[in-house]
Amino acid sequence: MLHVGGLTPLSTTDWPGMLAAVVFCQGCPWRCGYCHNPGLIPPRSEHEIPWEEVMAFLRRRQGLLDGVVFSGGEPTLQAGLADAMREVRALGFKIGLHTGGMYGKRLAEVLPLVDWVGMDVKAPFADYVLTTGVAGSGERALEGLQQVIASGVDHEVRTTVHPGLLPDSDLVEVSRDLAGRGVKRYAIQAFRSQGCGNESLCQSATRERSLQDVGAEMAGLFEAFTIRA
Ligand code: SF4
Repeated sequence: MLHVGGLTPLSTTDWPGMLAAVVFCQGCPWRCGYCHNPGLIPPRSEHEIPWEEVMAFLRRRQGLLDGVVFSGGEPTLQAGLADAMREVRALGFKIGLHTGGMYGKRLAEVLPLVDWVGMDVKAPFADYVLTTGVAGSGERALEGLQQVIASGVDHEVRTTVHPGLLPDSDLVEVSRDLAGRGVKRYAIQAFRSQGCGNESLCQSATRERSLQDVGAEMAGLFEAFTIRA
């Protein structure tokens, strides 16, 4: 039984190259100031969509979608994730996962069920607490990243860039670290104020250098590098 806080019927961006529905899993242990969907952070919500309704919707989309992305919140927070993925796989959909990598045991449980991972890396691992507000989050994210790389599952690492939380020098440091760890596909995406409940972060998002300009320093480190500005 999965607690679902939202459902996007069709997305072309949440799993690049695929037509996918996105299941937004309720609950996240971190408290990123730039979170664009803070309503998904509490473990339960009065706006949850019953899992049976999600499955009924997906049955109507069989043959029309390539896959289903489990996003959040943080999907690996929930004990019911693996069973939910198995049910969706049985309908013939490919499975995508968005994760910050913070629950290693559950990540290990679901990686064999997953066709693609979009893995968030938020900051230099030693400085994670400045973004997530949670001590020890960087260690857990690094372990999660190592699990994803070692699994051989197709993946993209992505970093949301807010200039006040992640200065350009730190962003370049993150990219070099990721390349050194074997990451082949990397995307950087500009902070969006839409949905963000932190007023001061929304007002301090002005960049001095363009993201394209900074990205030029890191593009050659990866087989695929994308800027979502
Ligand atoms: S990890 Fe994602 S869902 Fe959780 S608080 Fe941070 S941005 Fe929001």
